[in-house]
This record gives sequence, C-alpha cells and structure tokens, in this order.
Amino acid sequence: MATHKLLLLPGDGIGTEVMGEVKRVIAWLNKNGTAKFETEDGLVGGASYDADKVAITDATMARAQAADAVIFGAVGGPKWADVPYEARPEAGLLRLRKDMALFANLRPAICYPALAESSSLKKEIVEGLDIMIVRELTGGVYFGEPKTITDLGNGQKRAIDTQVYDTYEIERIVRVAFELAKKRRNKVTSMEKHNVMKSGVLWKEVVTQVHSREYKDVQFEHQLADSGAMQLVKYPKQFDVIVTDNLFGDILSDIAAMLTGSLGMLPSASLGEMDPKTKKRKALYEPVHGSAPDIAGKGMANPVAMISSFVMALRYSFDMQKEADLIDQAVAAVLAKGLRTADIKSDGAKMVSTQQMGEAIVAEMDTLAK
Ligand code: NAD
Repeated sequence: MATHKLLLLPGDGIGTEVMGEVKRVIAWLNKNGTAKFETEDGLVGGASYDADKVAITDATMARAQAADAVIFGAVGGPKWADVPYEARPEAGLLRLRKDMALFANLRPAICYPALAESSSLKKEIVEGLDIMIVRELTGGVYFGEPKTITDLGNGQKRAIDTQVYDTYEIERIVRVAFELAKKRRNKVTSMEKHNVMKSGVLWKEVVTQVHSREYKDVQFEHQLADSGAMQLVKYPKQFDVIVTDNLFGDILSDIAAMLTGSLGMLPSASLGEMDPKTKKRKALYEPVHGSAPDIAGKGMANPVAMISSFVMALRYSFDMQKEADLIDQAVAAVLAKGLRTADIKSDGAKMVSTQQMGEAIVAEMDTLAK
C-alpha cells in the first residue's frame, strides 16, 4: 500500500479549526482507504511569527519541499498588524508559493444543488455548475519589472507595472489546463486581451500552437477576458476549464467564486512543474478563504473549503479518484440533508458547528462506503 507524506500547516484563526476536520477525514482514510497518509504539523503565518519571529522557518520550508503535498489552512489576523513587513503572516504563504515554484493555481467553482439558492444569481443559472479556473500564478504584472513609482518633479508621480510573459510560462500553464480538460468535459477556453495587449497577442499565439500541436482532440476557444467576465455571470455553464494569466485569473476566479455562494465552500490547488523522473509535482492545497478573525475560536467556520482542498490533493497529487468522489458525495449528501454552518444557513436548515459538520461528513463517508 502506498504511503503519502503530508505537511499540515493550519496557520492562524479558523485555519486551525478547519484543519482539525481534515485530520478527521485523513484518519478515516487511514482506516478504510487504499493508501496511507503520514502527517506532520508545522507552523506558518502569525503562529510561526509568535514562535520564531518569521512567517515560516527554513526548517519548515525544507519539510514542505520534502512532502508529497502541503495542506495549508489560512494565515493572518489583527494580532500581527504591526509586525515587520517581511515577517507579516502572508509572507509565509508567498514564500511557499515562490520557493516551491507553484505556477498553476486551480480554482474549481462548483455549485452543489442544495446551495443553488444561496448564489446571488438565479438558481437555474448556477445549479449543477462545475467549472475550473486555471490561473498562472508566478508571472505577469504582479511580478514583472520595472515596477516603480517615480516622482516626476512637477507635482505628478508615475506608477509603472509591467505585464511580462515568456513562451515557456504560457506553454506550461496551458498544458495543465488541457490535461485537466481531458479528465473533465474536454473543453478549454483561453482568456486574454490580444486586442489591446502584446502579452495577449503572444498568449493567444502560444495557446493556439500548443493546442494544434499536442491537444487537437480537446475542444478549444479564445475569449477576450472582459467579455469572458460577462459570459461567466450570464451563462457560466458554457465553460469547462478556463485558462488565463495572473491578473485576469485573480479577478475571474473571484467572480466564479461568487457564483457558488460562500467563501467557506471554495477549495484551491497550486501546482508546480512535473518532475520528469518521479512524475510528481510540488503541490499546495488551501481553501480560498482567510483566517476569518471575526469568527475564529467560535466553532462557526465552515470546514468544507478545507476538506475539499484535501480532496483536490487526492485527485491531483495521489490519483485517488474513488476516495475523492466518495468525500465529494458525502459533502453533497450532508448539504442535501439540510445541515449548514452559519455562512450558508437557510430557512429550515439545521445549524451545525465546524466540528459537527466534519463529523457528519465522515459519518456519511462511512454510510456511502458500505
Ligand atoms: P476572510 O476570508 O478571512 O473572511 C471574509 C469573511 O468570510 C468573514 O466574514 C469570514 O467570517 C467569512 N468566512 C471566511 N471563511 C469562512 C468559513 N470557512 N466559514 C464561514 N465563514 C467564513 O477574509 P478577510 O476577513 O479579508 O481576512 C482576514 C485575515 O485573513 C486577514 O489577515 C487576511 O490578510 C487573511 N487572509 C489570508 C488568506 C490566506 O491565508 N490564504 C486569504 C485571504 C485573507
């Protein structure tokens, strides 16, 4: 039986609470699943600052590099508002992404039938929605140089950000999108703005080449990112996999997030390059939400985003599709029975705590596995 090594970094605030429910799921899999998980805990964010005066230590970074996957909770909170800039809690996450070269950010937007009512869009537009946004995470305008603010000396200042992409960066992210599409509904939509941006011209050219060279069997289309944003709220079910750059991906994935209801439901994965020898990728899985200081310590956090992030690890790092499907079905069943944490409450639903939600999901896994 295979053994997978996980580094668990719960972080701050509700990060520790929702990670507790992932541990419950891992314990179930270790008893009933087809692989074993060895877990280690580590500190990141404010918790790491309190212990070691840095947002992540070199020793924890080394453990992250050695793990088969990192499962990350959330970092930050008012307690650390005044710590030195380089030691701020977010710096821990940024270092993990940078040092592990996690260039592909996968954000699924799935609307569980039981939650279709809580979307801000009409039920029939979002019910059954299942799309995947693949965002380039290590390049583009957030990192491009020059990145400056210059005083022009005449009472004016000039700010410059630089959008920059090389061919290889576009090739590797679109390959991730095409590979994902092959395991889903076989369709990729690439979004850029080639009408006004040179980086968009190159993006479109490279995606088209990769498609015709390597993925002819996948249905493929281009959309301008602005009209793509409109289509995303008008008729989101037309999409399967959307691939786009860092800036557009940041915005489009937040739009897609809102289609599904609550932040407490949204998982994500960040993947690095495939090692040609081991065929493994560096990978970090985390919920989209933050440390939610307003509800931390109250047992109110929804653990589904965190559990679903772990489910992504089962799918993309460990190829454990059967177990991943089982947990997804258990989550859907618990929601269908009307169990709700406060963030997704609705009329007639039964309000449960973080822990009760986790227990109900594991109980449902038990039932489904029989
Ligand atoms: P947040 O995601 O922590 O919270 C936004 C709102 O959503 C809050 O009202 C919160 O109660 C609610 N919420 C979030 N997750 C929930 C869950 N699982 N269940 C129920 N309700 C949930 O964002 P914020 O308030 O802007 O930021 C709080 C802190 O988290 C800040 O320090 C911020 O820097 C940090 N942050 C960290 C990450 C990360 O670690 N990846 C991401 C975003 C924000």
